[in-house]
Amino acid sequence: MSAPRVVSVAPASPAERVGVRPGDEILALNGEVPRDVIAYRLLADEAEVVLDVRRGGLEVQLTVEKAAGEPLGAEVSSALFDQVRTCDNHCEFCFIYQLPPGLRKSLYLKDDDYRLSFLYGNFTTLTRFTEADLERVVTERISPLHVSIHATDPEVRAEMLRNRRGATSLRWLRALLDHGIEVHGQVVVCPGRNDGAVLDDTLAGVLDRYPELASLCVVPLGVSRYNTEPHMRPHTRAEARAVVEAVHDWQDVYQPTLGHRLVFAADEYYLLAGIPFPEPDAYEGFPMHEDGVGMARTFELEFTGAVARPTGVATGFFAWVDGAPPEGYRAPRTEQPSTGPGCGAGEAASAGSAGPGGTTVTLRARPDAPVTVLTGTYGATVLEPLVAGLGRPDVRVLAVENRFFGGNTGVAGLLTGSDLRRVLADQPDGHRYLLPDVCLSQGRFLDGTTPDELPRPVEVVATDGIALRAALERR
Ligand code: SF4
Repeated sequence: MSAPRVVSVAPASPAERVGVRPGDEILALNGEVPRDVIAYRLLADEAEVVLDVRRGGLEVQLTVEKAAGEPLGAEVSSALFDQVRTCDNHCEFCFIYQLPPGLRKSLYLKDDDYRLSFLYGNFTTLTRFTEADLERVVTERISPLHVSIHATDPEVRAEMLRNRRGATSLRWLRALLDHGIEVHGQVVVCPGRNDGAVLDDTLAGVLDRYPELASLCVVPLGVSRYNTEPHMRPHTRAEARAVVEAVHDWQDVYQPTLGHRLVFAADEYYLLAGIPFPEPDAYEGFPMHEDGVGMARTFELEFTGAVARPTGVATGFFAWVDGAPPEGYRAPRTEQPSTGPGCGAGEAASAGSAGPGGTTVTLRARPDAPVTVLTGTYGATVLEPLVAGLGRPDVRVLAVENRFFGGNTGVAGLLTGSDLRRVLADQPDGHRYLLPDVCLSQGRFLDGTTPDELPRPVEVVATDGIALRAALERR
């Protein structure tokens, strides 16, 4: 356990009124030691909060009086004050095993922690879930949670997770649903492993055993050039088409039975299969937007002005937690607060949360210079028709092939500085280059480089259609 450290105090907040300062370590609230920001928030919700604080080696006690439920106003340095619960599975499709060496340490962290599921929307397999966890989730109403299902057949699931507890851990999913916890599910499809008849069996199993699921996304596995698993490979077009058709067939079963479609295929599948995206209404409010389901449609709605606000990145219920920043687990994309335009589209990968409509701009090209929108190969497929619809010969989309990871990594969220450097070196000087912020975490690409190291200046802009449109109109 490490005590949460205050990193900032909101002006005129209850914390400021009693003299809480950045650097203070909060040892206890009303005598209780919080394990994470969820507990911290619950304890801080009281009308009277006695804070045990360590400051410069000394312990002081501060008493806060405020309205019940009023935020304390002290931002702390991490989401979990004890250890992240790591995953004990060894999935053959795990992208973490397919990362090259030498990246930042946090990228290699395999977590399987229901708290991160609640806070950030991470998926948990529940193989390390316990009775005590269930009790806490139910008592504190830690909801919604996000659960990796992959297959409902116990043997197939255990094989996919390479963990015998994978055969039985979905009993916790049943228990969560029995207690009214909202759960969103995920199936990562690996061709030859859990597609075809196994996928049908899984979707039948969901109807039979977990019909209360709020939504279920079906996403393809990612394969990088560092993959060492002989059976893991990208889908063929025919396989992708079969997955989309299976999802549509099961939507036709779920809709009349459950009253909603429940299951959705990732955007990547439609791109791979060459099948048009479903109409926006078919996404039922885009519950799995952050998981790459419906991003292309939301981007289109934003870009064409059909909606007034970006759908944005849902960060689980993290926003609910008073004053706790995402540093330490999931960092903001840019180092500065976001305020303006952005680009990038239809991406399955996301790497953090930017403020709505965010931008960090390094303007060195003339405002009326030709504009190039940089994105991944999948994003380019979505963006090109939208940009063409503007009738602006001065704007073009440039797809950046991902050679750093290779394989089937076509999403903008996995773009790295080395690939951008290679592509931009051949591009004309004096143009404006727009870069989606989704490929950055605290101002750095996944390979550790920064936009300042690129051979052309870029404008880093938020990854939504409204922001991109605004950036293009800023001449
Ligand atoms: S559960 Fe997730 S993190 Fe763990 S091995 Fe499987 S894919 Fe990787």
